[in-house]
Amino acid sequence: MILLDGKRTAEAIRTELKQAVINRKEGGRKVPHLAAVLVGNDGGSVTYVNAKVKACEEIGFESTLIKKDNTITEEELMSLVNKLNNDPEVDGFIVQLPLPAHIDELKVTEAIDPKKDVDGFHPVNIGKMVLDLPCFLPATPAGIMELLSRNGVETSGKDCVVIGRSNIVGTPMSIMLSRNSNPGNCTVTLVHSRTKNLKEKVKQADIIIAAIGKPGFVTADMVKEGAVVVDVGTTRIEDPTKKSGWRLRGDVDFENVADKCSFITPVPGGVGPMTIASLMINTLKAMELNGK
Ligand code: NAP
Repeated sequence: MILLDGKRTAEAIRTELKQAVINRKEGGRKVPHLAAVLVGNDGGSVTYVNAKVKACEEIGFESTLIKKDNTITEEELMSLVNKLNNDPEVDGFIVQLPLPAHIDELKVTEAIDPKKDVDGFHPVNIGKMVLDLPCFLPATPAGIMELLSRNGVETSGKDCVVIGRSNIVGTPMSIMLSRNSNPGNCTVTLVHSRTKNLKEKVKQADIIIAAIGKPGFVTADMVKEGAVVVDVGTTRIEDPTKKSGWRLRGDVDFENVADKCSFITPVPGGVGPMTIASLMINTLKAMELNGK
């Protein structure tokens, strides 16, 4: 079994991006600038946004963190999005999801200029992804593609089962893996909560991508010998041995599944760092696409 080490792979990407920043500075060119909007103080969101800002600092990107109270109105948030769309200093920005219930997430996502949509959630970018046109790819599935590619995982001709059909992970993942590209060229089955005989379907897979948010859902009896297993799930579970009182657990029963796999991602340290690395790649791309 080979561990698909997202932490190490993301570090290699950060080193390349650092060099790109140095080259740009030497050429007297602008440094990429990512802005992140954080509404409220949900524990998970705060952790993710802080990690994104930290990654910018490490690479040498500029970053701006805009914190707003969760009483912010939809109009105020829309006006902030509009301001960022028109700020020439900001190359790309994200509005960290989830948003409070009184704000329409789709409306906010649609208000982001697709050219600055480094999360790749705007319908224009999703549409372009489906058509295989240049665009910003959603950060988590793009990070998984990068992880597979950089660790020599063969995907062509493989049977892949993606568990979970969210707009930000499962659905784009299924499209990206089925494209005529490398990595890609998989025969993909997308399963979800209404799927019949889910266990049997997963058991047929050469590659399993688990993205449902149910800790330990994928058990050893669902995994074929030699399968590649990518665990996207990150659920906080109680752990009195930790100072915080919790730890992250993935959707895969890692302890019992790992021995059966050819490759497997750990949680934490697998997909998470790759998601952040993808966001950084998209931010550099945003600046280049806008001719800066
Ligand atoms: P989501 O929007 O909650 O969607 C979950 C999906 O899983 C849905 O399609 C749902 O099916 C399916 N599902 C739920 N229970 C199921 C079951 N028992 N059997 C089959 N399918 C089931 O989730 P998400 O945003 O994609 O996130 C999934 C997990 O990934 C979460 O733990 C999240 O924290 C994590 N995540 C991690 C990263 C990272 O960077 N590491 C990034 C994003 C998300 P239906 O559509 O039928 O309801």
